Amino acid sequence: MRPIGIFGGTFDPIHYGHLRTALELKSLLDLAKVHIVPVANPPHRTAPMSDGALRLRMVEAAVRGEPGFVADDRELARPGVSYTIDTLASFRAELPGRSLCLLLGMDAFLGLPQWRRWQELTTLAHIVVAHRPGWDAPTTGTLGELLRERRAPNAAAIATKAAGFVHVQPVTQLEISSTDLRDSLRAGRDPKFLVPDSVREIIIETECYAESL
Ligand code: ATP
Repeated sequence: MRPIGIFGGTFDPIHYGHLRTALELKSLLDLAKVHIVPVANPPHRTAPMSDGALRLRMVEAAVRGEPGFVADDRELARPGVSYTIDTLASFRAELPGRSLCLLLGMDAFLGLPQWRRWQELTTLAHIVVAHRPGWDAPTTGTLGELLRERRAPNAAAIATKAAGFVHVQPVTQLEISSTDLRDSLRAGRDPKFLVPDSVREIIIETECYAESL
């Protein structure tokens, strides 16, 4: 059975850097589905600017009509701090034996040792790391070691077992970030072509990042 991708993040707002990365990973790893999972209460960063319902609405709008993409509200529906280990456990309970891939940008991967029970993540899923402009793969330290020990021989190996590999995947480099988008919205600039039109419309309608664009 084809693997399932799990792409967590703040998505404040979701942008083409997220969407293109998810689409390329889906195709390169032959994922059956990619679940986009907006965080509710992130443990390692300040609270998102837009509330969960609105970030979920933007994710839903972004993936509408895109086969295999799922806007997944399980972290928003769960009380308390959103830990990825709990999210992976919930996927694993639903899909025993299925190959699961936690999809991360390189910047997120570099912060992994700060995550709760991070060394157990690979018991529940593979970790697939997408290149991101400005961030290099670690060669030393705990993560360098993890990469050496767990690296998948190739992308196809991800489908051969349920969990345990780490795979670094080059993707088209798009230097878009939600932080830059929010800053540019506050400066009155139009996010056209950085986010899907449907997301742009929600941003304009709700004035969630800036008044009257
Ligand atoms: P912020 O600027 O608010 O930190 P962000 O743009 O980094 O937001 P997040 O929602 O924090 O977006 O990221 C979710 C996931 O998407 C992370 O794993 C992150 O590394 C990845 N990601 C975000 N932007 C890109 C991009 N342009 N290319 C590849 N991966 C990305």
